[in-house]
Amino acid sequence: MLPPADWQPRAPLESLHLDWLTRAGVEVAVLRLDLIDPLISGNKWFKLSGYLAAARQAGAEGLISLGGAHSNHLHALAAAGKRFGFPTVGLLRGHPVQTPTVGDLQAFGMELHWLGYGGYRARHAPDFWASWQQRYPHLHGVPEGAGGLIGARGCGVLLDQLSEQLPALGWDDYHGCWLAAGTGTTLAGLVLAEAGHRPVYGALAVPTDHGVAPLVTAILEEGGAMSPAFELIDACRGGFAKVDPALLGFIEQSEQQSAVPLEPLYTGKALLALQEQVSAGRFVPGTRLVFLHTGGLQGRRGFTL
Ligand SMILES: *Cc1c(COP(=O)(O)O)cnc(C)c1O
Repeated sequence: MLPPADWQPRAPLESLHLDWLTRAGVEVAVLRLDLIDPLISGNKWFKLSGYLAAARQAGAEGLISLGGAHSNHLHALAAAGKRFGFPTVGLLRGHPVQTPTVGDLQAFGMELHWLGYGGYRARHAPDFWASWQQRYPHLHGVPEGAGGLIGARGCGVLLDQLSEQLPALGWDDYHGCWLAAGTGTTLAGLVLAEAGHRPVYGALAVPTDHGVAPLVTAILEEGGAMSPAFELIDACRGGFAKVDPALLGFIEQSEQQSAVPLEPLYTGKALLALQEQVSAGRFVPGTRLVFLHTGGLQGRRGFTL
């Protein structure tokens, strides 16, 4: 069965203790999307939630989607299928490989089809979904990464969750959110929900020419955003999935100080970009920021940290 409409996991908000924040007089709280559920992790759940609602409305029994052999998106989908007992099908890029992620997808009961590279590139063709829909008429199709306005809207609830938890930290407000951006869908969801009240900072995990800005703008326009306030910051360190010793050292040090686990592709790069901006004096003392831990820790098994 699909999860009930009112099932929503909650991300805990915690203060983040790091020496460079203390030195700058900047306070940061982390919204731990990596801790929402024992099986499901990260922003991908929230991006999926709108598609789950659409699937319920369409009377579908389960979901079918696409991704790569390390995909956090397919991982979250397969985990949700396992958690609630609904069928999931994953269409994978490339040729069969056994990664820790793929092992989990199989263990969660996701049915996998490897499309090759050419077959995967065809995913934007107008007739791509028709044959899969014919084969799996009881499943609802979800675009790669659960992007678009439907995916973005599902992330709006995160602002409610963090606002509710501010008093427990002794905060009456915050000045902005900082998070890793891949497609920018999650960022767009926060910008829509903020409605111009506070800026949202997106630390780009992909190069600046990957079309994130136009995609975010398109989602915001479609969502009718009033006075959108956001900024994209280059955080990719030479390319998506490029990892360097300084980054790995920073992650190790941050984990030792804060006990918050990070991975190198998104959350580690996003926090390092924040450290660079804070150290450069970007935020005045007394600034309070919320760092969204978008999850992704399952993908870390592909790396030796
Ligand atoms: C997918 C992902 C992101 C990027 O989310 P977008 O909505 O595509 O910007 C950030 N962090 C992690 C851990 C992710 O898995």
